[in-house]
Amino acid sequence: MSVVPVDTTHPDAAVIANAAARLQAGELVAFPTETVYGLGANALDPAAVQRIYAAKGRPAWNPVIAHVPSIDAARALAREWPASAQRLAEAFWPGPLTLVVPKAAHVPDVATAGLDAVAVRVPAHPVALALLRAAAVPIAAPSANRFTQISPTTAWHVVQSLGDRVPLVLDGGPCSVGIESTVVDCTGPEVIILRPGMLGRESLEHVLAPLGIPVRHAVRRIAHDLTALPDGLDAIPRSPGMADRHYAPRADVWLFDTAQRAEIVDALERWHAERPRDGQGAVPVYALVRTGPPDSGDRPLPGHVRQRLMPDDPAAYARTLYGALHDADQANAGLILIEAPPDSPGWDGVRDRLTRAAR
Ligand code: AMP
Ligand code: MG
Repeated sequence: MSVVPVDTTHPDAAVIANAAARLQAGELVAFPTETVYGLGANALDPAAVQRIYAAKGRPAWNPVIAHVPSIDAARALAREWPASAQRLAEAFWPGPLTLVVPKAAHVPDVATAGLDAVAVRVPAHPVALALLRAAAVPIAAPSANRFTQISPTTAWHVVQSLGDRVPLVLDGGPCSVGIESTVVDCTGPEVIILRPGMLGRESLEHVLAPLGIPVRHAVRRIAHDLTALPDGLDAIPRSPGMADRHYAPRADVWLFDTAQRAEIVDALERWHAERPRDGQGAVPVYALVRTGPPDSGDRPLPGHVRQRLMPDDPAAYARTLYGALHDADQANAGLILIEAPPDSPGWDGVRDRLTRAAR
């Protein structure tokens, strides 16, 4: 595999042209978007999309998002283009919002996992946009990591997860948003948030209210078993792939409330007592805390716990979250303690990812 640095303000035309030619030829190319790094393939070429599934080990029932450079290019993939989609696209594209709309006949079933709807997005990253324009075909691009692992927010994360499964990685530096896009279903009379992200419900409501279109969150996600077709998939057809345990580091993950700090120290002692000794010394434990140094309380966390102070602002938190989880994975952490974010709307996307990581 080769990793090629690309200047984000002026992406090198030759590098972009080469990557676009590879995509047109059916190859995989990993590239930066503002959310996470994507593993791209020509969305209209079933064999190419199949290569994404193979490289990720992603189950066939989990559909991918088609990335395009403009609203017009998105509309070309849709059988119908709902008023809600038009309004949201005008307001938030390019940006971290994915719209699910009725699928046009020429979009291959493999890209939508057989669903009659297709997910489309115009990303804001200059490298992604340059690549999409040069490729001149829609690019299916799920996160560039093996299935169930943490999404990559740097080129190095891509290399660690996929290795030689991807021939070319464009390195555009760290992602500015840091968690996956907000996914909304625009196929019905209400807009339904299938996956929370940094673009929150209030922002969507604000632009859809004049059209009289309500916004709500999907009732419940599906599937604990990530490798087989989940039971009950038929019952909840809207968004396969919202699997519960996802975005997960290898370590155990415990979410704790700020008020539970003292209990965490006890629980940590029990966790250590119950762990089989492997003769390698203490297994690293990470603590991602938010409200201040964790050992400022009455009962300090044990000294071997590697503490990391996370930002107390949702956008900055999202930007650093996956990097922190990757670091813990790299250090073979056995346990990651995470101070839960506040239960307020701006934190929806972050809370969603943390809850899944903790399952
Ligand atoms: P990602 O893994 O970031 O590429 O996001 C893909 C996710 O978007 C899938 O796991 C689905 O949950 C959702 N998605 C993609 N396509 C569709 C679709 N046609 N209908 C409903 N949800 C979709
Ligand atoms: Mg993913």
